[in-house]
Amino acid sequence: MRNIRERRNFLKLILYSSLFFYSNQFVLASKKLTNTKILSSLIFKKHIISENHPEKPERIEFIIKAIKTSGLMNIFENFNLTRKVENWIRLIHSEEHINLLKLAFPLAERVSQHAVKICLEGVDRIMNGVNKNIFCATRPPGHHALNTGKDEGFCFYNHIAITAKYIQKKYKLSKILIVDWDYHHGNSTEYFFYDDPSILFFSTHDQFAYPGTGTPDKIGIGKGKGFNINIHLPCQTTNNQIIEVFKNILIPRANRFKPEFILISSGFDSRINDLLGCYNVNDEGFVELTRIVKKLANIHCNDRLLSVLEGGYNLEGNAKATIAHVKELNNFI
Ligand SMILES: [Zn+2]
Repeated sequence: MRNIRERRNFLKLILYSSLFFYSNQFVLASKKLTNTKILSSLIFKKHIISENHPEKPERIEFIIKAIKTSGLMNIFENFNLTRKVENWIRLIHSEEHINLLKLAFPLAERVSQHAVKICLEGVDRIMNGVNKNIFCATRPPGHHALNTGKDEGFCFYNHIAITAKYIQKKYKLSKILIVDWDYHHGNSTEYFFYDDPSILFFSTHDQFAYPGTGTPDKIGIGKGKGFNINIHLPCQTTNNQIIEVFKNILIPRANRFKPEFILISSGFDSRINDLLGCYNVNDEGFVELTRIVKKLANIHCNDRLLSVLEGGYNLEGNAKATIAHVKELNNFI
């Protein structure tokens, strides 16, 4: 009788310890999957510029649909944030610009402000070790926004520039690399950091497209000289061409700069078949670009990398490129 009870207890012990072991393995496995997070908000569906405008709510809707069908829902989070970000916005934008936007485009201002909230939340999570890297599925885009009191190229606030300032002020990291692979030149990002050696701005774009800036001779001014890198890539640019530029120019320059945080202005209008672009870069191309930037983050800044959606106007193409990009961000093996 006693023997049977002992055997039963022994079997129970084996059962519980194996359950404990496998549940730990499960926790470890799911932790691995949540290294990356995609952050978004339902508010991004509300902002409409005009009927049939290419910068439309469906850009985000298609991304979310693609996230659902590609098995990435476990790393996706949709939420509204109540944090105050106006003081951070003021580090880049003038009081006048903010006030004029609020008067003339109250909803767009609120939506763009929410994109800033998502970006800063992403930085906090990375800095607090909650996630290794983050993709912000936000709109409107931001890298053309100047202090003109109106939108520029569909942009109201420059989310990536505000985020860079936030990282420097709040977390005392001084050197930030901003990689901008949108088809259009990130003229506002260039403008705000043109004399700033603490921000290395690297942009690939078509200098003949909107807004007509981004010539390679614009290398920065004063102390910022050499910290602004414009690479013109013509129509029909292929995967190999853009990858070569990243390998031959970005990698050595970033290795000398040694960034402490990396931001990506992730515009997918540089993808093949975009409504506003003319490149032939496909999803494999973006995977390789992601791999290169991710490796730089691994070498220099403990993987700290935040990627923010900019352009991308072929709804399906934009969503497919996003999934390819995020899957590579989340691949730490
Ligand atoms: Zn663009």
